[in-house]
Amino acid sequence: MEKSEIFEIVRKEGIRFIRLQFSDINGTLKNVEIPVNDLERAIDRGIMFDGSSIEGFVRIDESDMYLKPDVSTFAILPWTLEGQKSARLICDVLKADGTPFEGDPRYRLKRVMEKAKDMGYVPHTGPEVEFFLIPRKNGKTVFEFLDVGGYFDLLPVDVAENLRSEVAVMLEEMRIDVEATHHEVAPSQHEVDFRYSNALISADAVQTVKLVIKTLAVNNNLHATFMPKPFFGVNGSGMHIHMSLFSRDLQKNVFYDEVKEDISNDMRYFIGGIIKHARAVTAITNPTVNSYKRLVPGYEAPVNIAWSLGNRSALIRVPMARGMGTRLEYRAPDPSCNPYLAFAVLIAAGLDGIENKIEPPKPVDKNIYKMDEKERDNYDIKTLPKNLEEALKEAERDPLIKEVLGEHIFNKFMELKWKEWEEFSIYVTDWERNKYENL
Ligand code: GLN
Ligand code: MG
Ligand code: MG
Ligand code: MG
Repeated sequence: MEKSEIFEIVRKEGIRFIRLQFSDINGTLKNVEIPVNDLERAIDRGIMFDGSSIEGFVRIDESDMYLKPDVSTFAILPWTLEGQKSARLICDVLKADGTPFEGDPRYRLKRVMEKAKDMGYVPHTGPEVEFFLIPRKNGKTVFEFLDVGGYFDLLPVDVAENLRSEVAVMLEEMRIDVEATHHEVAPSQHEVDFRYSNALISADAVQTVKLVIKTLAVNNNLHATFMPKPFFGVNGSGMHIHMSLFSRDLQKNVFYDEVKEDISNDMRYFIGGIIKHARAVTAITNPTVNSYKRLVPGYEAPVNIAWSLGNRSALIRVPMARGMGTRLEYRAPDPSCNPYLAFAVLIAAGLDGIENKIEPPKPVDKNIYKMDEKERDNYDIKTLPKNLEEALKEAERDPLIKEVLGEHIFNKFMELKWKEWEEFSIYVTDWERNKYENL
């Protein structure tokens, strides 16, 4: 979208306020609201803001930072605040001298996209976002099921179902192409899928999708939670990520080999790279203490590091589609991750595979959970980290993570996450009291 088009729409629609959005290190969406009169200045020069209160954005040498709108992200917010229409623009974060702030997660992804471009590729991603809708009573969120629905259940027509279709309508209005919304396996669990695109656009879309879902939930006196495992005993919420590489002119999917009529060598190497870095990458794709309560056997979430041409118990699945639809589905991530950082490390891991021709182990088309130790060794199957501590140690050991995150985010991320882990380690839980009260 051009600047002139934006002004045209703003005038026609009577928009009074513009929200300048960006994401902190945890992937939390932040925004600064400006009156429409400041829009031109924002687009041309950026808007100054104080980054010191944003998680992971310490003020560098006391200078302020700038938000520079990416005009292609302009969208009218499909709801009003006290009757006022507003629009949003997703921004890049710049330093006072106009260069990118190295601690901006969006910039980290942009760098990886640049690297891919230099190699001749445009990475594409298509995430599937799962979440729970739970009640609010007396102004508080309660961890109870709203319904007893299951996978693809249709009836009864309830609040959640209406909300799901509202989500779809609003996302379409914001130019996000929704492919499906459905009830998920667990009670009160839902999924929204939208069309794959360039990984940067796709990461922006994840942020928008979460915002729309959360906003609609609040408007219906509900709470939408993207925490990975809100309830013991039922499936958790994942964010499977479909990935492919297109040629620079977008005419070809380089994961497809037209001669072999099958997956290309580059795709195999890309898988090899992801598998090589999988344990370290998990710290970014599954960044909370709670993430690891989801990655256990029995709930459709992956545990073993393996790839497969169909088997859904594998970490990496290659769906049947070939030609332009050739892709892999990486099933570990959960929606508590920062999508910019998660896509960045995953793409970088895959590119490392291509650059260094990393052969993945043999694909596994059997149910891994039913294999004995010997058979697993034969396939060289390792497991994902069992908890945040294990994942953080892996991320510290693998130079790829620091390289992709950059010094600034890497250090801040480790500091935050080790603190989170220590906090959890010393906390006394209800489980312990129930288990040990009679000791
Ligand atoms: N909720 C499952 C997970 O944790 C996935 C279920 C599915 O989409 N088949 O990954
Ligand atoms: Mg799905
Ligand atoms: Mg699903
Ligand atoms: Mg899936």
